[in-house]
Amino acid sequence: MSSSTPDFHIHKLVIIGVGLIGGSLALALREKSTVDEIIGVGRSVENLQRAIDLNVIDAFTQDASVAVKEADVVIIAVPVGAFESVLKQILPHISKNTVISDVGSVKGEVVEIARRVMGKQIDQFVPAHPIAGSENSGVEAAFPSLFVDHNIIITPLAETRQDLLLLIESVWLSTGAKVLALDDQLHDQVLGVTSHLPHVIVYALMDYLAQQPEQTLHYQFAAGGLFDLTRIASSDAVMWRDICVSNQDKLSAIVREYANSLNQLADQIEAGEGAQLEQLFRHAKTERGQLADMRAAKKASTST
Ligand code: NAP
Repeated sequence: MSSSTPDFHIHKLVIIGVGLIGGSLALALREKSTVDEIIGVGRSVENLQRAIDLNVIDAFTQDASVAVKEADVVIIAVPVGAFESVLKQILPHISKNTVISDVGSVKGEVVEIARRVMGKQIDQFVPAHPIAGSENSGVEAAFPSLFVDHNIIITPLAETRQDLLLLIESVWLSTGAKVLALDDQLHDQVLGVTSHLPHVIVYALMDYLAQQPEQTLHYQFAAGGLFDLTRIASSDAVMWRDICVSNQDKLSAIVREYANSLNQLADQIEAGEGAQLEQLFRHAKTERGQLADMRAAKKASTST
């Protein structure tokens, strides 16, 4: 994928779902003055009015079909479970040069829905997923540097129009992100392991803790490690419900495989197999070190 300096200008950008991701993209593009007008769409007037107050968008409407008229770029930044209804709502109202893109954390189902709903217009869809975010949500959480040095995965289709693909690539490059291409199924498998599984583990861990008979005592003596590990349990429940359901086939298999690893570990602990446990922990420490080194090297290469 391209890594050159982006050169583009958008007359009308529509962000459907002005939350952490949609709001941060709007702010990043505003900083570069690459967009004339940003229209926000959502369900709650309070959130949209807050987006105006924070200078994230120029105007808003709750009616996506009105917003997308004569838009150059439409970004769907709602939870993946709402993607289909939003797409159906806007499709009859877009022009033949409008590019529709998304930011959804699951790509296989999004692509399948887009194919089914868009038919021949599928060439106007560019599926994308920024690998950046946080456990905070809503427009208040948005900030313009969110995507700097982060990867944006685009999962282009054979039919995707090259001019529209290049425009979406340029949009993301202008935010300071790197753009990579990946097959949608591979995306869902890899992100299933690296992102969806950790969220499921942590949600289950908090649920398990809450079920303990001496819950208050457990919370009272919770150490830093538990806080570090469970930060992401504060993420938006609707968003994660939708991610789990949308990636259900791959994620359920991943969770079951991981549960087998935990059961194996329980067997080793029960059997007092100290040597095996030590070997596993040493291996895990080395792997964690490699992960941290790779992250540090990536940061260093982007800051020079
Ligand atoms: P968010 O902060 O909760 O924002 C989502 C926005 O969508 C809200 O402002 C909400 O506003 C609006 N919305 C929800 N349902 C809607 C509907 N049916 N029609 C119109 N607007 C609707 O969530 P986010 O973190 O930005 O996530 C948005 C998308 O980005 C999700 O698909 C997620 O998978 C993906 N993503 C998230 C992260 C992350 O770390 N958070 C990272 C990468 C990708 P109203 O309630 O006012 O409608």
